[in-house]
Amino acid sequence: MKTFAAIGAGLITFVAGAFASMHEAHATGMQGHVYMAQCAAEQVQDARLRAIFDAQPTHLANGGFFPDSGYTSKDHDQGEIPHWEGYVQAYVELIRETYGPKYDSPEAQQHIAFLMGMAAHGITDSTYDAIFGDRAAQVEPTNIDSLDMANEIFLVHDLPRYYIPELVVDVNTHSDVFTKRLQHPVAPDAITDAMSTAKSGIAVVANLLYVGADEWGGKYPWARKRLLDPRVPGAYPFGAHVVKGYYRELLRRLDNDSSADQIVIGTYPDTEYPLVTLDSTRPDGKVHFFFGEGLERTSVDDTSIEIKDEAGNVIPSKWNFFRGDNWPNVIQVALQEPWKPGTKYTVVLNPTIRSLQGVSPTKPFSYSFTTCTPDMPGGDCPDITGPAPASACPKLDAQYAMRPAPPQEEEPPVVNPPKTTETSASCSAAPLAHAGRAGAFVALLMSGALAIRRRRR
Ligand SMILES: [Zn+2]
Repeated sequence: MKTFAAIGAGLITFVAGAFASMHEAHATGMQGHVYMAQCAAEQVQDARLRAIFDAQPTHLANGGFFPDSGYTSKDHDQGEIPHWEGYVQAYVELIRETYGPKYDSPEAQQHIAFLMGMAAHGITDSTYDAIFGDRAAQVEPTNIDSLDMANEIFLVHDLPRYYIPELVVDVNTHSDVFTKRLQHPVAPDAITDAMSTAKSGIAVVANLLYVGADEWGGKYPWARKRLLDPRVPGAYPFGAHVVKGYYRELLRRLDNDSSADQIVIGTYPDTEYPLVTLDSTRPDGKVHFFFGEGLERTSVDDTSIEIKDEAGNVIPSKWNFFRGDNWPNVIQVALQEPWKPGTKYTVVLNPTIRSLQGVSPTKPFSYSFTTCTPDMPGGDCPDITGPAPASACPKLDAQYAMRPAPPQEEEPPVVNPPKTTETSASCSAAPLAHAGRAGAFVALLMSGALAIRRRRR
């Protein structure tokens, strides 16, 4: 047993090192993105979207890992570009021109589901990185270069979630979006290769690497405890919460409605997510806006956002776009002084901002929140305690509780599943026993797109 465990630990460490060198900093992984896209879909009540998500769940899932699949290509931009609003809008327009305005064919529904999953991926890289990932970097005992892979392992092991999507991607259409609409040539075969590699990466985690959850949990205890907690800003339930609004706005765009009146799809803090600290320099101490359509960069300036105290005084703050291409969809705002305890603040977004379609909201967007009252004067907000509240997507969570048979004809090595979902040392030895085929295995892991991504625009 010890031998198997040692092989497993060594293999995982080796793979982690290899992946860490392939991408920078923190991230969430492909399985995590698929989870957030699906969790948001479960919460959608709009009848048209409901019908699409119910009919085309696999296309939604494929869209959910499509952006990162491109990072397995030699062309880094095959991964980078679909993360952002330029690609989202080009794809919206292609779908609208090809299948609109009714979108009543199965192909139309499949493309819409894929679009939604893909867009959900982009925005949840931001909800996660801007708030959760940057906070993890401050508090985890280990540097977070491998936190993306660890998150995938936590999700599979702890939820559990043994899910490996069947590949369904219209490679010709996506090649057209890249090549004809965005003037960045990508061949259909390159998309096929990238998606296959990405799926292999997902399968490796779901079939094998999940057994290392406790080892990773020792490195990243803060993230493991919070990743699925609906109270934690930037964690997966928060991402799904923001994605719900993105789905609504994407449907509006497909309907050729350019209104920007509901362009704010999420904020932090909000009524469900109180500010967790009075430290305005912390990632989770900053105000965040998430937009359901990219913004013209030049339409945002120092007059666009104001934070006022209870007396209506404007408190000095500094804003920045969080990444993005020509049309970023996230703004962070840092108060230039600590938040005062037990104080009501109002944040105002002025209607001078313009969407990528050149449209401004018809009125200001504003919301108020009250900061926490620390237990002791001069202290900070109390940390979360007790078990996490119920999931907002219980059907999804229940769906993968049982480990499915591993795929028979897939690229990843076939490993025997444990008989139960428990992962004691004896259980974990079963799949690891097959690590004897180490050569092919390591080659696969090296090529596998576990959680590969990086975007720094
Ligand atoms: Zn990504």
